[in-house]
Amino acid sequence: MRFLADRMLGKLAKKLRLLGFDTLYLRDATEEEIIERALKEDRILLTRDRDLIKKALKSGLNVYGLKADKWRSQVQAVLKRFQIKPEDLDPFSRCMECNVELTRVDKSSVEKIVPEYVFRTQEVFYICPECGRVYWAGTHVERMKELLNEFGITFDERNES
Ligand SMILES: [Zn+2]
Repeated sequence: MRFLADRMLGKLAKKLRLLGFDTLYLRDATEEEIIERALKEDRILLTRDRDLIKKALKSGLNVYGLKADKWRSQVQAVLKRFQIKPEDLDPFSRCMECNVELTRVDKSSVEKIVPEYVFRTQEVFYICPECGRVYWAGTHVERMKELLNEFGITFDERNES
């Protein structure tokens, strides 16, 4: 499942990437460019723009119109709409900023980059080949857990049904 988030949904895009979803975020694209790109790359368009929803539907695009304006509610709505389960998530797969797939790197190669405490306590590191940002289990998994805890009810409800 791949997404394209329109320019009003930057935070949602980052959170979806954190959860492992390939999510394109186009800040300066026109409506035509957005639709064309989504069609070409077979992405589900996420938007709050009614006009864009109409145009996208006309083009035969798979589009989900979000109503919520807070990112938490938006993430929750997307998880619910596409019936995303915990096993569909893929942490450590892509950079929150670039949407690029992360590469596993040797611990020794990040010694100078990460805080000393992190280097001492963590074993597995990933790097974004685009921006050089380093990810490790501690923060990344904690952030994932925090995020999922917030939506715990959603997953519990789904598990019961
Ligand atoms: Zn990056």
